[in-house]
Amino acid sequence: MATDASTNRPYGFGTRAVHAGQAPDPSTGAVMTPIFQTSTYAQRAPGDHQGHEYSRVTNPTRSALEGNLAALEGADHAVSFASGVAGIDAILKGLRPGDHVVTTNDLYGGTFRLFRQVFEPFGLRFSFVDLTDPEAVDAAIEPGATKLMWIETPTNPLMRIYDIEALVERAKADGIDVAVDNTFASPYLQQPLALGADMVLHSTTKYIGGHSDLIGGVVCTSREDWHENLRFQLKCAGAVGGPMDSFLTLRGTKTLHLRMQQHCANARRLATFLDAHPKVGRVLYPGLPDHPGHDIAKKQMKDFGGMISFSLTDDAMDKAVAVMTHTKVFTLAESLGGVESLIEHPASMTHASIPPEERRKIGLDDSLIRLSVGVEEEADLLADLDQALQHV
Ligand SMILES: *Cc1c(COP(=O)(O)O)cnc(C)c1O
Repeated sequence: MATDASTNRPYGFGTRAVHAGQAPDPSTGAVMTPIFQTSTYAQRAPGDHQGHEYSRVTNPTRSALEGNLAALEGADHAVSFASGVAGIDAILKGLRPGDHVVTTNDLYGGTFRLFRQVFEPFGLRFSFVDLTDPEAVDAAIEPGATKLMWIETPTNPLMRIYDIEALVERAKADGIDVAVDNTFASPYLQQPLALGADMVLHSTTKYIGGHSDLIGGVVCTSREDWHENLRFQLKCAGAVGGPMDSFLTLRGTKTLHLRMQQHCANARRLATFLDAHPKVGRVLYPGLPDHPGHDIAKKQMKDFGGMISFSLTDDAMDKAVAVMTHTKVFTLAESLGGVESLIEHPASMTHASIPPEERRKIGLDDSLIRLSVGVEEEADLLADLDQALQHV
């Protein structure tokens, strides 16, 4: 249900978020898609079934979720996985030993680990470059051997913005397919397929699920060859999300547009507040006019998102720890994208595996603090940060 069948008019995002992929259950009339907690399906005669045979291959709750997520990304297909990294894993398995991938040097840690520690030993090759530098991208591309460009924007935790349209154009000149990790933006804010990308990956654990109560992933694509390959990988390796998690994710998408509006409004206000605070050093938020990616973000995103990173004028780890152990509304925890506000310390938590020299080289300060701004009352979030900063 992405378009009105009688007028062919495409439904708006909020309507698709609530309805796409779902219809009242034909056997009971249940308005909400049931949790089909079953592994197998009765057949009238061998091969004579109602569309489902075995839940590793398809499950009705998961199929409804896939229909919904495809509509939100404007894709012909969505393939749902048990986690974000399982989706990335399936994409990479579409390549062959010797194939080369160009990607960013500011990559989600789990993606970096999968590339370096799992796929390099199997013969895939990766170049980690600054995707804002066209010369570095040109130098990294090996015509004929480079098969995939892997983009993540905005990045974590440095909030860098990469120009999807420009990178797609560069990649296509050498016949390279492009995948975009759209987790930080969500489909509400950014739709990479419309900018020419071949695949979009989400950790649905984050904004799409939105309530920090599940782990999931999805790959959206309109490329028939990639879709077929992803379905094949899912069937062969079996990293499928369960019906309960699929149901919870579907419940999350119904309010994605509403939540994102509040995440963005709260984050914009907090970024402005932090930017003017005497104890705060750099504020990394693409919505601030002096952010180096501000103009590109304005061009390719509907709004600037709910993630903010900032450092302290006194760039010391213990000062950052003092802030995050004194917040009361913000919870000290990893992950992001839920309705509740979270605060974390990349240098010692999510990005601790990067050696200190490397960290500083890419601009990840010792005192850098990452916020996942939730949908609570803006005044309470602001007061909470204000009082926590008094402990610096
Ligand atoms: C969390 C995350 C992932 C991995 O997703 P999981 O659901 O944890 O497997 C990938 N990319 C980004 C940007 C993420 O934030």
